[in-house]
Amino acid sequence: MMYQELRERVCKLNRMLPDENLVVWTGGNVSAIVREAGHVVIKPSGVLFEDLTPESMVVIDMEGNVVDGDLKPSVDSSIHLYLYQKRPDLGGICHTHSPYATSFALLGESIPAALSPLAHLTGRDIPCTRYAQAGYVDTGEAILEADKDGYAVLVQRHGVFSYGKSPEFSVKIATFLEESARTVHYAMMRGKVTTLPFDELKRCFDYYKNYYGQ
Ligand SMILES: [Zn+2]
Repeated sequence: MMYQELRERVCKLNRMLPDENLVVWTGGNVSAIVREAGHVVIKPSGVLFEDLTPESMVVIDMEGNVVDGDLKPSVDSSIHLYLYQKRPDLGGICHTHSPYATSFALLGESIPAALSPLAHLTGRDIPCTRYAQAGYVDTGEAILEADKDGYAVLVQRHGVFSYGKSPEFSVKIATFLEESARTVHYAMMRGKVTTLPFDELKRCFDYYKNYYGQ
């Protein structure tokens, strides 16, 4: 099979989504791109997360044709492909319907970068897109309209798309975003939540990029 190591990574990341309470049943997906080959490794459609194996991941080309694998790819494949084509910086994409973040998406609201953990990762508010047809490129277009060079958006009345240099980073963003959304939600019930000042957002973002980790 092609891309055994990447299949293992993408499978593991998909299986983390229910563990982090970001998805239910079969909803949600993670993918990774192999830029030099023009191939994307993505979750198969309609398979329970607990049943996912590295071998069940599907390799597709940039037109969505299955290159390697026995199953149909995620119904959101066209959205992933569109984002990879328009954003050459992306190495991985994650999609969830995580409930606290999606409650902001339902109201058409952005999630303010009010907490430093999220500010470190994204350096900005998480915007909400216009309404778009789920499962179609329309969703990809709406995502780029709302966010040209960030790491996550809320898709109105749908859920979260997060993305970055690697599939691991995309899942990390999705997880921290849901934590922030939950905390901001609780805080909003008790008072006014404000976003961090622009200069401080930028400082947090630069600090994390340059100093965090091994
Ligand atoms: Zn969805």
